[in-house]
Amino acid sequence: MNYRIEKLIDEREVSEGIKSLAESINRDYRGESIRLVCILKGGVFFMTELAKHLSSEVTMDFMSVSSYGAGTESSGVVKIIKDLDESIEGENVLVVEDIVDTGNTLSYLMDLLRDRNPKTIKLCTLLDKPSRRTRDIKADYVAFTIPDKFVVGYGLDYDQKHRNLPYIGVVEFND
Ligand code: 5GP
Repeated sequence: MNYRIEKLIDEREVSEGIKSLAESINRDYRGESIRLVCILKGGVFFMTELAKHLSSEVTMDFMSVSSYGAGTESSGVVKIIKDLDESIEGENVLVVEDIVDTGNTLSYLMDLLRDRNPKTIKLCTLLDKPSRRTRDIKADYVAFTIPDKFVVGYGLDYDQKHRNLPYIGVVEFND
């Protein structure tokens, strides 16, 4: 299928958005240690950039999940492809995600992680598409709220491609 990518948020805006998010996190945690939990693969670029601006002591862990569902819509039943390496009991967990869309994946994942008795757990996302939400889930930290468009770049893929774009772009299909 033919498509082009239209820039939505340029490289400078992305990096400034992440920096100001980090400032809010620094104010809220005031030096308390943070366990960043990155949801692979989309959250990687965001997490590494965010982590560079955090003043707390930071540790990182990674989780990979796949959402069962027909077509492009996630269903809320999540299969863990790779679980965390370390226990999160007693930790200040900050889940780092690329995008919250329907909220199905995160709603399931946050409940699952909450059951593991972290001291605190919050959700941080690079992008939020609130218009598509079907679950009552709200991220604690959002860098950018975007319209209902399919986006790529800065970790987000289309068919596993374009994750390495330094900006966020909208996929526009040619007819
Ligand atoms: P949810 O369960 O919130 O509907 O789905 C979240 C997941 O769907 C994200 O982690 C991401 O993998 C995928 N997703 C949702 N919207 C987009 C989008 O606009 N672009 C890309 N590349 N992935 C998306």
